[in-house]
Amino acid sequence: MQFDILYNNKHTAARSAILKTNHSNIHTPVFMPIGTQGAVKTIDPEVLTKLNANIILGNTYHLYIRPGHTLIKNAGSLHSFINWNKSILTDSGGFQVYSLSKLNKISDQGVEFKSHLDGSKHFFTPEISMDIQRHLGSDIIMAFDECPPGQAEEKVVRSAVDRTTKWIKQCSDFIKQNRPFYDWEQTLFPIIQGGAFPSLRKKSTEELLPFSQCGIAIGGLAVGEEKTSMFETIDLMNTLLPKDQPRYLMGVGRPTDIVRSVQLGIDMFDCVLPTRNARNGQLFTSQGIVNIGNKAHKEAFDQLDPNCKCYTCENFSKSYLRHLFNIKEVLGLRLATIHNLSYYMNLMEDIRNNIKRQTFSEWSMKYLKKMNDFKGM
Ligand SMILES: [Zn+2]
Repeated sequence: MQFDILYNNKHTAARSAILKTNHSNIHTPVFMPIGTQGAVKTIDPEVLTKLNANIILGNTYHLYIRPGHTLIKNAGSLHSFINWNKSILTDSGGFQVYSLSKLNKISDQGVEFKSHLDGSKHFFTPEISMDIQRHLGSDIIMAFDECPPGQAEEKVVRSAVDRTTKWIKQCSDFIKQNRPFYDWEQTLFPIIQGGAFPSLRKKSTEELLPFSQCGIAIGGLAVGEEKTSMFETIDLMNTLLPKDQPRYLMGVGRPTDIVRSVQLGIDMFDCVLPTRNARNGQLFTSQGIVNIGNKAHKEAFDQLDPNCKCYTCENFSKSYLRHLFNIKEVLGLRLATIHNLSYYMNLMEDIRNNIKRQTFSEWSMKYLKKMNDFKGM
């Protein structure tokens, strides 16, 4: 994998680059749509390609539970199983094991958990998470880490930092000792923990950096902590991380969070918001959030976002979208998802173009000023 920085913004830490995997060239800053169980909900690869997506996410825990990583390997990799020939990043499953499954028991050896579906017992170790991701064939493999909740005390966060360091060695050894099943490169991203404690963030960074080849992730943010401490931590990470590797901020976020994080040197993002909120009828637009189910849109025959050129906005009215949600028609979920993903992908393109033209600092200030007036953006 290769990361080439093309432009640095003069007044902020923002930069624009190309991240090259064996499957695609990814222009950063990038937003990666989430395809947890092997599908970006309601959207097919043809639409994703039209939206200029060059990388999507898959999830180790979910794909292990169903349909199973051996089946996916038999299908010829996750790319081949889901018919997606661009890049894939897979989460390690750690976060889902803690948050979704019942009765998880964590020790230095790994995590014992019960499936959220049928209660069956499973055990994940760093090696097992790596092996599942090796079967899936993801271009970017995430380290198996421990992610404590945002309100956790320092003692708990420190122990998670130590365990994450212990586990990255095991992850890295496993990858080195076991050749990939496919003829493309799989790059391991370590995940820095440490909550909102600067000394723990420093410790975690120092301990994990030796294991990063081309990319490092910031974990343990957007997990319920105060927003000010989230941005203070991202700002600190900007001073600690090397400039020549991509930085992935996991699970963030709202459009304004993304713009502020780009100012602080973040290159890669993922979040369920555009897709999940679309299915709840909450749409991101240049005029703020539109709750499409509202009565006010009953006879609104204009387009959803006057500044959007997506398939949904170009062809359908707010009134029709509201009708589809009203009758619980699956087409409504699909059209809403197309629009929300377009909003995010266009936002990233605006960010990249403004970094290129050296207008990013002014553009981002203007964007944040406008969007801060709209709740939920
Ligand atoms: Zn649109």
